[in-house]
Amino acid sequence: MSRNPDQRPDGWAVGQCLWSPQRNQLGRTWAFWETMRDVQPGDLVFHLCGHSGNAAFAGFSTVASSCSFLDNGPNGPEKLYRVELSEFELLSSPLSLTETFAARNSELRAYFRSNRNAGAAKERIFYVEQAGRLQCLNGAYLSYVSDSLLHLLFGIEIEVGVDRSTVIADSTNTGTVLRSVAARIGQQNFARNVKQNYGFRCCFPGCGADNVRFLIGSHIARWADTSHLRGETNNGVCLCVLHDRAFEIGAFTFDCNGRIVTHPEKCNGTWLRDLLEPAVGHFMRIGKIPPSPEALAHHWAAHGFSIS
Ligand SMILES: [Zn+2]
Repeated sequence: MSRNPDQRPDGWAVGQCLWSPQRNQLGRTWAFWETMRDVQPGDLVFHLCGHSGNAAFAGFSTVASSCSFLDNGPNGPEKLYRVELSEFELLSSPLSLTETFAARNSELRAYFRSNRNAGAAKERIFYVEQAGRLQCLNGAYLSYVSDSLLHLLFGIEIEVGVDRSTVIADSTNTGTVLRSVAARIGQQNFARNVKQNYGFRCCFPGCGADNVRFLIGSHIARWADTSHLRGETNNGVCLCVLHDRAFEIGAFTFDCNGRIVTHPEKCNGTWLRDLLEPAVGHFMRIGKIPPSPEALAHHWAAHGFSIS
């Protein structure tokens, strides 16, 4: 949330970074600044800019790196949190918050009330019901937007690859942008669920890659082949970038028990053989939710493996 986006100095502008103090003048932390420490590379950020009646969702960007801790800011020495952003995209027609509050008034009120009573599951959200109306929560600098709140705000439906959204401002460029946002969030959710299912480690036998920046939630069956498996955790395996690419081009696959099989033509005479061959006959580490046999059959068929 940026009240005065035009007053931010170059290098600190909306879409370039998120930044906030670490503590207030009384030396206390503030929940909506502490949120800065939770963001992960790849997270999507919506920018709500402007004051009261003029406040509008102006665009969105992607988190490029997790939080860093600075001793200096644009106003001199000060302990700050800073999060780098990338891929900043402005909406051609910003979505007025007043209009959004009016259009989904009763649903947003209900969401606020049920969140208020959610106990430990309570989310830090950006608005409150106060004096009988909905308004921005003062100081809610960086807050959380769940899939269902996204749906209420923008009408987008988060489901990987399936487009059932009835986005607000559908006929405009903003509608197109929101659809692409929905698809990106769906893909992020899929990738996160898959990696979680495999304990954030590459599941290829003998590979220990566990740095999240090297891990991918890989699809087993291609999206185009199996619409009903899109977004399903059992249509994914967690692989490192190298094994993901080898799996994607069909240099190897695995059978229903998780045993590695390599593709003779795709591996023969290449360095890929040295990479993959030692694992042949060994077992993938299978996650809590095992791969779908149907998805596997698609992978075999797509890359010419004859496995029964
Ligand atoms: Zn690996």
